[in-house]
Amino acid sequence: MNPFLELGIREEVVKAISEIGFEKPSEIQEKAIPVLLTGSDDFVGLAQTGTGKTAAFGLPLLEQLDFSQKHPQALVLCPTRELCLQIAKDLEKFAKYIDNVHVVAVYGGANISDQLRQIRRGVQIVVATPGRMLDIIGRNAIDFSNVKYVVLDEADEMLNMGFQEDINNILSETPEDKKTWLFSATMPREVRRIAQKYMTDPFELTVGTKNTGNANIEHQYFLVKARDKYAAFKRIVDSNPEIFGIVFCRTKIETQEIAEALIKDGYNADALHGDLSQQQRDKVMKRYRDRSLQMLIATDVAARGIDVNDVTHVINFSLPDEIENYTHRSGRTARAGKTGISISLINIKEQSKIRQLEKVIGKPFVKMQVPQGEEVVAKQLMTIIDKVKNVEVNEEQINTFLPAIMEGFEDLSKEEIVKRFASLEFNRFLDYYKNAPDLNIDAREVSGDRRERGERGERQSSKGYTRLFMNLGSVDEFSRGDMLGFICNTANISGKSIGKIDLKGVFTFFEVQDEEVNKVFDGFKGVDFNGRQVRIEVSGEGRSDRGDRGGRSRGGDRGGRGRGERSGGFGGERRDRGGDRRGGFSGERRERGGDNGGFRDFSGKRRESKSKY
Ligand code: ADP
Ligand code: MG
Repeated sequence: MNPFLELGIREEVVKAISEIGFEKPSEIQEKAIPVLLTGSDDFVGLAQTGTGKTAAFGLPLLEQLDFSQKHPQALVLCPTRELCLQIAKDLEKFAKYIDNVHVVAVYGGANISDQLRQIRRGVQIVVATPGRMLDIIGRNAIDFSNVKYVVLDEADEMLNMGFQEDINNILSETPEDKKTWLFSATMPREVRRIAQKYMTDPFELTVGTKNTGNANIEHQYFLVKARDKYAAFKRIVDSNPEIFGIVFCRTKIETQEIAEALIKDGYNADALHGDLSQQQRDKVMKRYRDRSLQMLIATDVAARGIDVNDVTHVINFSLPDEIENYTHRSGRTARAGKTGISISLINIKEQSKIRQLEKVIGKPFVKMQVPQGEEVVAKQLMTIIDKVKNVEVNEEQINTFLPAIMEGFEDLSKEEIVKRFASLEFNRFLDYYKNAPDLNIDAREVSGDRRERGERGERQSSKGYTRLFMNLGSVDEFSRGDMLGFICNTANISGKSIGKIDLKGVFTFFEVQDEEVNKVFDGFKGVDFNGRQVRIEVSGEGRSDRGDRGGRSRGGDRGGRGRGERSGGFGGERRDRGGDRRGGFSGERRERGGDNGGFRDFSGKRRESKSKY
């Protein structure tokens, strides 16, 4: 027998939820449903996000209400319009095979007259955000005198957003003898207080450990300089080509900035925040759900309760103000039993926050290294190979063109063709990651020390030699000897003028006697290698420029670029700007917050600053 039937859910509903893949109840459902079906208790249910709370209250509601009547019998309050729509939709799905079930979603930012019309036509379940609900109550447009159940979903977040007073006012419109069911991922003092104030001897259920994140989430952090954050973020994204992620920022401006930068850099990303109209938000969400967006850049408030399946990564571009929000953010991944990764990009001063978070989620964070440019490039290359292998070939269609295709490629070897096809997509990464610096803080600190001591170690060229960079390396099938020959022949200089050759994967550093440097530049002007333009630059340029951009470049049109991410012309300018400005944010925050090592205490004080989100 279907376990939901055994719990006491009627056949029509079991049929509907089977169709959407609910085979057996989740833990909270299994424990809450029997209690809620008695209809005789107030109830507090604590469970992490993604554990199926909607059905835990939704299924019992469907059993308790009288759908032959057309007045409101249940009111579900939740913090955001996204969540409101989601819950209403879920309830409708559960009720697919019950006749005459009417659910209305009441939320701000949408046409109120449509909502009023639906209410007038008759509804049994009202799902609402507090603001709009009060508005409608104020118009005397709804009768709550027959409400039997009030559900406070994501109660912690509603308080967090400053809805306490609104909730008070709404609850006072409902009958004394209604039952209140409160659901929350966490149980801060304020939620406890609400429970005490509005409930009589509630049945309390905790599933899993309070405040604990989902066990299927791996928590990782990357230690980077504020100004390298965006570059590091991109490397993480680029080394996860299949990413389907939500990126959290702290402010609308930051959200917008990151989204814009990503779009400029060729990613499928968009922003979701409180400044967008409801229509815009719906559109963004639809594109994300359809997976035409690979990354959703969002503020905490806007992304609250979003339930999209198979989110692979949650990225905390900035850590949240309130420690509680970290759980909510990471709960967007690893839903319905899947696994997921929650990544935080932090600076040195934020390390103590990681320790705090570890205590709260009861699990260690794994410190990760920002991938090196070469690693990213290798990852992308493998992805391209996979793509080529797995592409669907339409034999019939392509056959007609095949002779022409063959003719076109006639004078190219298989090897050449393979290289060229790969390069089509790959060049962008090669170029971008050429010369990319190590973005991990410790590594850069160390090289910084060395620089200050006046010894730049192996990066320093030998006396009388200039260290040059070339965008070809061992992946282009050069040995050191080949490289020596290639340089000497192309620049027409003797092998004796060449010093150390440092052959890397996709690039090479080599030393040339100072007086021969110009010959190398001249000799390589306009030279192609396998269809790729060979580029020579003086190495080490811009290495010390972190901060004083370009201030120390060695002049000449070749030397003027910074290294790696900051050169490359791949949105570099924009990145610098963004980086600086973002650096500014954190500085400002630090001043305001005082104690930047800790999280702001959890409190309902959010309201006044709400417009920022
Ligand atoms: P919460 O409110 O606890 O964050 P949701 O109610 O939004 O979680 O459910 C999270 C996801 O799990 C949703 O996609 C939902 O459809 C799915 N889900 C819920 N219950 C079950 C179940 N019993 N079997 C399979 N999937 C479920
Ligand atoms: Mg929920």
